[in-house]
Order: sequence, then C-alpha cells, then structure tokens
Amino acid sequence: MGADDPWVTPAERTGLTATPTYAETVTWLQRLVEAAPELSMVSLGRSPEGRDIWMVVASAEGAFTPATLKASGKPTLLAQAGIHPGEIDGKDAGLMLLRDMTVKSTKTKLLSGANFLFVPILGVDGHERSSLYGRINQRGPVEMGWRTNARNLNLNRDYSKLDTPEIQAIVRVINQWEPDLYLDLHVTNGIDKQYDITFCYNGQQSWSPGIAAWLEKRLTPALNQDLKAMGHIPGPHIFARDRRDLSRGVVASTAGPRYSNGYGDARHLPTVLVESHSLKPYRQRVLGTYVLLESSLRTLAKYGRQLRRAVTADRARQPERVPLTWKVPDAKPDEIEFLGVQWETTPSDISGGDRINYTGQPVTLTVPYIKYNEPEVSVTRPRAYWIPPSWPEVIDRLSRHGIYLETIAEPREVVVELARLSEVNLADEPFEGHVPVTAVARFERRTVTFPAGSVRVPTDQPLGDLAVLLLEPDSPDSFFQWGFFLEVLQRAEYVEGYVMEPLARRMLDRNPTLKRAFEKKLTEDDDFAADPRARLMWFYERTPYFDDRWRVYPVGRE
Ligand SMILES: [Zn+2]
Repeated sequence: MGADDPWVTPAERTGLTATPTYAETVTWLQRLVEAAPELSMVSLGRSPEGRDIWMVVASAEGAFTPATLKASGKPTLLAQAGIHPGEIDGKDAGLMLLRDMTVKSTKTKLLSGANFLFVPILGVDGHERSSLYGRINQRGPVEMGWRTNARNLNLNRDYSKLDTPEIQAIVRVINQWEPDLYLDLHVTNGIDKQYDITFCYNGQQSWSPGIAAWLEKRLTPALNQDLKAMGHIPGPHIFARDRRDLSRGVVASTAGPRYSNGYGDARHLPTVLVESHSLKPYRQRVLGTYVLLESSLRTLAKYGRQLRRAVTADRARQPERVPLTWKVPDAKPDEIEFLGVQWETTPSDISGGDRINYTGQPVTLTVPYIKYNEPEVSVTRPRAYWIPPSWPEVIDRLSRHGIYLETIAEPREVVVELARLSEVNLADEPFEGHVPVTAVARFERRTVTFPAGSVRVPTDQPLGDLAVLLLEPDSPDSFFQWGFFLEVLQRAEYVEGYVMEPLARRMLDRNPTLKRAFEKKLTEDDDFAADPRARLMWFYERTPYFDDRWRVYPVGRE
C-alpha cells in the first residue's frame, strides 16, 4: 500500500519496521470505525494505569452487541494481540485486515462467513512501557513494549487465578460474546529454526478431545496450506529438549489453565496459541500473522457448524476422571521432520560453558517428538464442591469465570470429604504476586455445617472441568496451590506445659491404647523421645482443644 494512501496503517507507513503507540493505534482505529459501517469499538474496561482496553467488533450486518452478533448465526473469531505487549505482530496485522475487509473491500468476503472480534492491545500498560530495549531476543519492531502489566504480572499466567483487570476483561468477553474460536497472538524466542510462524493447542488427550480433533483436522491443514501458499514456513510450536543437540528431540507440552490455550481447553473454548518467530524480520512476521487470521476466518466460515458440535460434545462429556497434570508416556515417541537451522557448539571463555552459534544454513532433521500427553495425576470428579462464604476472593473468581454457583440462604449440614494437608511446602520466592504452595492432601469424610452464604459448585455443568482444576488441591492451577488458602496453614492456639502435663497424665491413665501408642512412639522415634515440647504436643493433638481446622483445606467435596 502506498505511503500516501489515506488508509495506510501506521506500521505500513514505516514499511512494517515500527509499530504505533497506544494513542496512534486507537486514533487510527477510531477513524476506520467511523468510516466503516461494519465496525464498532467497545471498551472492555480499564488497565491498572487507567487505559481503556479496546475491542473492535466486525460484523457484515452491523451486529455490535453480544445478542445481535449471536443472532447473526455466523461463527465468531476472537483474536487478541499484545497479551505480551512486546510481541505485537498481531496488532499491526489486525489493523491491516480490518481495513481490507471494510473500507478497502479486498477481503469483504471474510465477513460474510464469520464475525471478527479483535483486541489490538490487551496489555495496554506494558505496551506503553516501550523502548528500543523491550525484548533483547527479538528483531523488531524498532521500539517495543514490555512483557508484564503495570503490576509486573504476566497476563499469560493469569487465566486461572484472574488477578488482573486485563484478563478479567477478556474472560468477560468470552462469557458475553461466546466466540467460537480464540487466537492468542505472540512472538516466541528460543532456538533458531526455519519456521516463521508456529502455533499449538492442547491435543486430543486433553479436556476437550472433540475440539482438539477439529483443530487438528480442519484448522491446522488450512493454516498450513494458506501460509505456505503465501511463502511462509508454518510449523508446530515446540521447544528443543536440548538446545546443544537437536537430535535429542523436540517437546510439546499440554498447557494448564493459567495459559490462554490451556484455559481454552479446560473450558471447552477452541483456543490456539500463535507464535511467530522472533529472529524473523518484523514485516515477515506481521504478514504471516495476517494470513493466519484470514485463513482462520475462512476455515471458521466453512467448518464452524462442525466445530460447534464438537464444543457441545466436549461440554457435555464431563468425564468421571479429570486429569490434573501430564507426563511423557513410556512408549518410544513418534518422530517429526524438523526444519532447523544448522548450529555449532564451541567452548566459551565468557560463560565458561558452551556457546551455540547458528550458521543460518537450513537443515532438515528427523527427531523424536516428545509429548506431555499422558495424564499423570487425575482425580475422581465429585458431584460438587462446597465453599464457605469466608473465602470471597475464591468465590468471586469462580463467578468471574462464568462457573454456575448455588448460594445457600440458610446454614446447611453436608457430608463432605475434606482434605487434611501435610508435608506443606511454600515456594522460596513469590511467583506472579503469590506464594505458591504444595501439600499432600488426604481426604477424610466429615459432616460440616456450611454457613448461610456458602456456595455449592456443581461439576455437572459446562465449566465443570474448570471448577475441578481450580478447586482440587492437587491441581497446579488450583487456588490452593496459588496460595489463596495460606491462612489455614497457620496454627492459632497453643497449650501451656503446666496445663498439658496433668491432662496427659489423665489421658494415659484412662486410655491403655493411647498409652501403648505413646510408648511405641518413644521407642521408635528418638528425636521425639528427646523433645519435651513434641511429647506434650502429641497429647495436645489428641484432645478436643486442638484446632480441628488446622491444615484442613476448607473446600469440601460432595
Ligand atoms: Zn508471548
């Protein structure tokens, strides 16, 4: 497009070498929306620094509300750029595409088969923390934003815990507008390779097997074909097992619900993580992302009905066992043809280790394709969870996810399984504003009176799998492991030795079984025998005075 064309985008004006600021982006989009009856712009809310997070709604019929858009009957694509604001290819690609499908009329057809929701910049605050030095591993744009938001939180770790207004906003979009396909647009670093654009999603082993099959059989071949036709080299988004020796294989993970693609999988929303390659020129990456967006819209128009059937089936599936973590199966992995770039490894007197140097020479390798696709820890799906009203942060987040909750107006006695926690391990460092914690959870059956205002979270609902992942203490993305329940790990009441002594004496006199147990412990455990306080505590724990809620995870399983 000529630099004097009134609809040249700010990035095109620089030959796709630089990216516009937030203000330039919003001004340009407002002008486009003004001129195009197919477009509207809505604020999804404000960032921590007070910037509006904008979404462009593109609809051939001018259906600009969730209700009218759904009534159009067409499938809807939601694409977001700049969740990591330095990785901004998607924004500049999206601006070009919105223009071409409206005022330029070269891609009008795309909107006749599908609706398009486009968030040009999700991490608006990080986007404005822009400099020449945003991403050391990335070739362009000239200046780029910073990875985290104004609170230094990584938005693509926030999908499960929902701390940030940015991710809360995008989850509201998902709940209200109900897109059929969700694309999260990034730029990856890592090893050099020939691929200029890669993408991935959780496989068919995961929480949404029907959706995964569609992504594999319908979307992937279409994207690959269209990208290749335009001179790009698409491939799967994977990591090297050992950067010094690619022949050891490449690794594909199953993303958990803290990540966009894992979250989509857990809530049965078809979601694809797109990663263009940081070592390719900005222009090539933006153009590749453009083709991918265009191709996704076309595929959705063509196979959207089939995708909706897969979504319905996955929502209704509600398996009895829900996997929480994934491992590599024992069987020998498949092999994959990998389009690499030749590398040399030489000793470095700077690091004292090895130095990897990429020669730029393309090389095709056949390597093991290692997939984390076998369930490691799984749980039996309970009928429901019970949460006391004293944990409003947790209840509020469940509700923001769109999980259906029943709130009781009167206290209710319920037989539940409660987990007693042992071997509690707090992380040495904070992570994403939390102190992560793990523990061994042993469930015991108890009758508990839940106060008025407690919520019951049934698992036979479309978001039932997500509820399991958020509430099971063994789940790495549970509120428990994120550290939302640290209080229950703290002991509040103590016993004086002079009070415990006579009480322990009476207990020994009255209970021969207890006496035998105590004597056994003394002979078997020398540390215990030598620790007066531990010996008194042993009795205290066996009195009714001892706190029966200490180290008890307060969320019950029905
Ligand atoms: Zn990223």
